[in-house]
Amino acid sequence: MHKPSQDPFPPRPVPRRTVLIALALVLLICAGVFGQQPPSASADGRAVSERVESLLKQMTLEEKVGQITQIGPSPLEPENYRPEDLIRQGRAGSVLWTIDSAWIRKMQEIAVKGSRLGIPLLFGFDVIHGYRNIFPVPIAMASSWDPAMVEWAQAIAAHEASVSGINWTFAPMVDIARDPRWGRMVEGAGEDPYLGAAMARAQVLGFQGPSLGTPNHVLGCVKHFAGYGAAEGGRDYDACYIPDALFRNVYLRPFQAAIDAGIGSVLSAYMDLNDVPASGNKWLLEDVLRREMGFRGFVISDAWAVNSLAVHGYARDTEDAAYRGLTAGVNMDMGSETYLRHVAKLVESGKVPLELLDQRVREILTIKVRMGLFEHPFADLALKEKVLNHPQHRAATRLAAQRSMVLLRNENGALPLSKTLQSLAVIGPIADSAEEIKGSWTADWGPAVSVLEGLRNKLPAARIEFVHGGDMRRLFPMPWDAAEGRKLTPLMPEAEMKKELEKAVEAAKRAESVVLVLGERANMSGEAASRASLALSGNQQQLLEAVVATGKPVVLVLLNGRPLDITWAAGHVPAILEAWYPGTEGGNAIADVLFGDVNPGGKVPVSWPRITGQAPVYYNHNLTHFPEDDPGFTSRYADLVTAPLYPFGYGLSFTTFRFSNLRLDKKSMAASATLHVSVDVENSGGVAGDEVVQLYIHQRAGSASRPVRELKGFQRIALAPGETKTVHFSLGKEELKFWSPETRRWVVEPETFDVWVGGDSRATLHSQFQVTP
Ligand code: BGC
Repeated sequence: MHKPSQDPFPPRPVPRRTVLIALALVLLICAGVFGQQPPSASADGRAVSERVESLLKQMTLEEKVGQITQIGPSPLEPENYRPEDLIRQGRAGSVLWTIDSAWIRKMQEIAVKGSRLGIPLLFGFDVIHGYRNIFPVPIAMASSWDPAMVEWAQAIAAHEASVSGINWTFAPMVDIARDPRWGRMVEGAGEDPYLGAAMARAQVLGFQGPSLGTPNHVLGCVKHFAGYGAAEGGRDYDACYIPDALFRNVYLRPFQAAIDAGIGSVLSAYMDLNDVPASGNKWLLEDVLRREMGFRGFVISDAWAVNSLAVHGYARDTEDAAYRGLTAGVNMDMGSETYLRHVAKLVESGKVPLELLDQRVREILTIKVRMGLFEHPFADLALKEKVLNHPQHRAATRLAAQRSMVLLRNENGALPLSKTLQSLAVIGPIADSAEEIKGSWTADWGPAVSVLEGLRNKLPAARIEFVHGGDMRRLFPMPWDAAEGRKLTPLMPEAEMKKELEKAVEAAKRAESVVLVLGERANMSGEAASRASLALSGNQQQLLEAVVATGKPVVLVLLNGRPLDITWAAGHVPAILEAWYPGTEGGNAIADVLFGDVNPGGKVPVSWPRITGQAPVYYNHNLTHFPEDDPGFTSRYADLVTAPLYPFGYGLSFTTFRFSNLRLDKKSMAASATLHVSVDVENSGGVAGDEVVQLYIHQRAGSASRPVRELKGFQRIALAPGETKTVHFSLGKEELKFWSPETRRWVVEPETFDVWVGGDSRATLHSQFQVTP
């Protein structure tokens, strides 16, 4: 029975500003335009577990092994690989990496109508920040500090994916990243567990809806469990060593938020965690994830991660790898046949008890039933192009991009630029690219707007001259590019770069103003894209200095996935806009901000190091023997100030804000009570704008040293010029607790706490309170 369309965005945190209300309306309209699937799991009235148990009873050993197998595009024996045969025999539970909707339909038909038990397949793909319409990369969306917007963005992505036949995304990525050398910082929400948890929750609700099986949504998969962002030296896949308390207080918090929001699957990471690979780590997957954190879905390893337990020097061979993965708690090995080849043997020989295999299968089937996959295995492909091309989805990407940008510098009102400009030079190796601006992980990509095109759209009558000015590239290919024989495009030869630079200088001289676009190509950030240096690569630093030397007003726009070394620019370029990779409508959104049609309100979700050697530098570090504010000790380096270039939570606006009247409703409270904090925020400038009001705490003493500051509340608010709003926060057990390395449990300690409220992590408006025993 198909129900009529209904709101796919049911009650959630209510957006506080008009623009979000507009977005909501846009999306509600979309929901009405495109018919929906019926709701959920047990439409036939049978309880989920009864249905799962009944299936389990009918399954042969071979079919059970099939259910824990995800087939992928690179099988171990390509010559014998016929996915349709495996599916017909019930020897596959999922398929990885395909966006061919017709093929998906065909394979699902075989699974549902041609296999003995008709168990539908999960089709998994990385829908990370959009499907056809690409939203800003996750670190950018985190910079919006606007979970409601992020939830809607991912709901659109889910809708586009689901109508194309994809019913499972490997997202959200919630790894805390403190070291910008790590390339995957771009895929997450940055360095902070509280902001990370808010973004994790928002994305899970966006992808899955309020419960599994919500029409037009997909199954989410939170990743990479856990600690992947702590890779030594920021080198991708390298070992992580994380003490228990840090692991729980920082790295696990966003995962807990995803679990609490109902995430149906978890992806176990590649790397060694304290010397045991995450995908063979029983303590991690059973004791912590299932028992301690209460996860009730199923675990898929990262791609071939079970197989690679043997590569780590952990398992003896691939059979041992299958044994260790399965017994550690991995239900499915991503895109590999490791389980398919070995698990039946392991069960038959008695090494793996049948009950254990049954449990792994049960957890997968339970999610499939709860998703309503048995009732609705197929996407309505007739709707596909209509949904993917809907102009309001595209409009939503522009709004998200506008809200994600961070104004890093704006001396003497350099921005906004005047729309009366007659001539403009647009310079930069990727300023004209409609590809790079989308960032990594873009699936069924549609056309995007480059910075150049966005500026031309904004100033149709002006003379806009474009020059690349040089080049930048990664030096070494991605491992899979190398394996598949793909070569990198080489860096432009020196002589050509020099010519380009000269052309750029001439163009700058001819123009009234310059928009200089620097950063990284999309493949310089992301998986296998760690960097030893955060310096502007290629000839970008020379280009920057030469263009600034012309004396023309320069605006620097950054397209990148991590903080880069822009310390020189921060002292010499009057206006710097961090646009990250803003997605499909990126160029238009950048132009909207540069010309003042939109007042930027984003804030950096990471502390921005001055130079590579300062990383990792994060705001929520512990106090030291000589704290930073000790008058006799100004820096912890002898050659560099301790403070980062831009602090966590920082971002400018075209207006200014004044914080006052910090009130606490009590000065002391029991550990179980809730403290109410309020503050007045005034727009003290001349234009409307958004401020992200941030609350930080510090516990002054206790069973462990506590971070100098910790974010425990934030709200993005919109204020008209001269307007004042009172913002309310509450602090209770959730905000005050931490996992104590001494007591080895979560505690709220009877101590004195500082509280600060302001516009970034240096907030000065201060008060304090006491938690009583
Ligand atoms: C990545 C995951 C991704 C998977 C499937 C792996 O290489 O680490 O983040 O979900 O591939 O694409």
